[in-house]
Amino acid sequence: MICIAIANQKGGVGKTTTAINIATAMAATGWRTLLIDLDPQGNASTGIGIPASQRVLSSYDVLVDGASLAECTLPSAIPGLDLVPATVDLSGAEVELVGVENRTHRLRQAVAAHTAHDICFIDCPPSLGLLTLNALCAADTLLVPLQCEFFALEGLSQLLQTVEQVQQRFNPDLGIVGIALTMFDRRNRLTDQVADDVRECLGRLVFDAVIPRNVRLSEAPSHGLPALIYDHACPGSRAYMALARELIGRLPKERIAA
Ligand code: ADP
Ligand code: MG
Repeated sequence: MICIAIANQKGGVGKTTTAINIATAMAATGWRTLLIDLDPQGNASTGIGIPASQRVLSSYDVLVDGASLAECTLPSAIPGLDLVPATVDLSGAEVELVGVENRTHRLRQAVAAHTAHDICFIDCPPSLGLLTLNALCAADTLLVPLQCEFFALEGLSQLLQTVEQVQQRFNPDLGIVGIALTMFDRRNRLTDQVADDVRECLGRLVFDAVIPRNVRLSEAPSHGLPALIYDHACPGSRAYMALARELIGRLPKERIAA
């Protein structure tokens, strides 16, 4: 199984929206896809239609109790897309895991043992704490949503430093599959300028597909549906389909069958 962490320590940059819609696009393309919600807020779980009342076992149980991913997986209404949900318990996991041996590798162990899916996406919380660290240790590669705004590059350098530390200490094979520009607004000159700066700075690392600011993307979660199902033809959905195609082309070939 290929494992992709969707991370950026800033909140509100489009991590969860990207996780939900990329996962849906992959499932629609025939990949057996697992979405792991690693944010105590549980927005990814809600966004694909799994209310808190249905979340019995969750990513908390994987991290703290050593439950398997298979035990915690719930089917979604979308064919080919399953979910390991998050509950508020997860906010205590960082503290509960202090002093636990292997606390950075709890998720990695679970991912390594899991064979029921072809690909998994981890929706990370907005911090660089132990939860995100578990995701970076478990992942083959990282997808970074970046909102086109003034401080975007500053936050990014902090994230890239963390990735380097994780590569040195824990997961030498961790790659960065790409940076996805989100909430792009063509009419806003600052957005345009930031997008140009990011491309100049990071070149090929930035995906060609750009996610526009699109109200359909923000409406969909309140219906418990990915935008790709809620309105598959809206500009946001089309952009996520394009991003998924580009992502598939960039996946490490040697990991696809494994
Ligand atoms: P994060 O997971 O990084 O905190 P979210 O994906 O939850 O970010 O997005 C933050 C808010 O912005 C949510 O209300 C979401 O619906 C909205 N949003 C995300 N991407 C877009 C977009 N491209 N266009 C419009 N609204 C968006
Ligand atoms: Mg989120």
